[in-house]
Amino acid sequence: MRIVLVGAPGAGKGTQAKFISKHFAIPSISTGDMFRAHLASETKLGMAAKRFMDVGELVPDEVTIDIVRDRLAQPDAANGFLLDGFPRTVPQAEALSKLLAERGTPLDVVLELQVDNDEVVSRLSGRRTCSTCGRVWHLDFDPPREVGKCDVDGGELFQRDDDLPETILRRLDVYAEQTEPLVAYYRDACLLQSIAAHGALEDIAERAIEALEAAPRRT
Ligand code: AMP
Ligand code: ZN
Repeated sequence: MRIVLVGAPGAGKGTQAKFISKHFAIPSISTGDMFRAHLASETKLGMAAKRFMDVGELVPDEVTIDIVRDRLAQPDAANGFLLDGFPRTVPQAEALSKLLAERGTPLDVVLELQVDNDEVVSRLSGRRTCSTCGRVWHLDFDPPREVGKCDVDGGELFQRDDDLPETILRRLDVYAEQTEPLVAYYRDACLLQSIAAHGALEDIAERAIEALEAAPRRT
């Protein structure tokens, strides 16, 4: 199954991506995570991406498309994948569809996670990530047992730089301007399934999997 997940920052794409990738036994590929990994190991690409990420802007399409092309060429993506956070612009979507057409493996479905803007702000500002395992917690909605520490491995929790208030607002604007048009783009391509991303995580996951199972497969 080849899936794209779209939704505003804070819609819960990362969390749902984990459920979905486990359910369908496909790798979850997050361009945001790939950029953060490059940043952490201070590669040239990481440094180039940082300028954009720090202020909530998108990394240029050419750079982003290249890393996705490389990642999709890995053997684990041969039998399906879930893309989380890519594409984020119409040119990225066009590049993806061209790339997949060349492989003869078109997308099966695009799942949109719908949330309200004000909810997104509270979700993002309370988000904390474990520095050891990467598990994402939330101060109000999914707090760890001990303040500032991950339940899984005791790792220190930190706040992503781009989850600071000014940057959150800029990321929401960027989403509305550059990414939201993808919803219409994929609706026109008859690939879109939308679900409400409110309520308990498990309930959202159940709706997500139901919508994905119901979508017709292309191959
Ligand atoms: P995310 O973890 O998906 O919220 O991504 C964090 C940041 O990485 C974004 O705010 C962008 O700066 C950058 N980024 C991630 N995915 C993309 C993409 N598909 N296109 C451009 N920039 C991206
Ligand atoms: Zn942890």
